[in-house]
Amino acid sequence: MSRSDQLRDHLAFFKELGVTGMSRDTAWRVRPADQLPSGDPGLHEMLPEAIRREAISMVDRAGAPAAASAKERLIVIREDLGDCTRCKLHARRTHLVFGVGNPAADLMFVGEAPGRDEDLRGEPFVGRAGKLLTKIIESIDLRREDVYIANVIKCRPPDNRNPESEEIATCEPFLFAQIDAINPKVIVGLGSFAVRTLLGVEVAISKVRGQVQDYRGAKFIPTFHPAYLLRSPDKKREVWEDMKRVRDILNDKTVVTR
Ligand code: URA
Repeated sequence: MSRSDQLRDHLAFFKELGVTGMSRDTAWRVRPADQLPSGDPGLHEMLPEAIRREAISMVDRAGAPAAASAKERLIVIREDLGDCTRCKLHARRTHLVFGVGNPAADLMFVGEAPGRDEDLRGEPFVGRAGKLLTKIIESIDLRREDVYIANVIKCRPPDNRNPESEEIATCEPFLFAQIDAINPKVIVGLGSFAVRTLLGVEVAISKVRGQVQDYRGAKFIPTFHPAYLLRSPDKKREVWEDMKRVRDILNDKTVVTR
């Protein structure tokens, strides 16, 4: 069966079940040519398959289709990742770092990839940069457990090198699925790497930071990465401005973008 036939089948299947909640925009698929995966691009088809399995199991359980909770959908995505060996990063990891927090969060943070501490603990943002992120979250009177935190890449790149385009292409569908499951009101992209991956464009974080954009049904706010703030503490003020924007959106207030 060709890929387009498979996709048509999936969509027909969703329609039959009354599923209307698939991603509203396809902008994430638009990537610079040099970042397209060179190998088998079939991974994009695997996530609908995961969601399809989830729908089947729900029909089995309830006898009728029902909306999956964010938590259930995250469980299915995590199961689909499994003991992932889809790219070479698996070989040196201690733990795969999936994500942490409230599956029903209104606010989601997206970072780059696990570092050493995260690899050891299996949780994103637990090292020095993570402690700063926790303070940033608390600056708008939320707790770490109120939000959801994930990375684009789920396994630590050796020596914290930049993730390669094939690693990104392999891993990013799982992040997109996490975003769609959580369906947050606001997504904060931490640093150039996360922002470029999410928006699918080569942008400098200094150019786009603080600019609120529509993204996958949420408001997206790019800001500086906490690791960068550790090196350039004078930039904390700008992140504070961005966090006030986040707070205003969460409180349904009009937001003045930068
Ligand atoms: N930096 C990231 O981008 N993510 C982490 O989880 C830790 C550090």
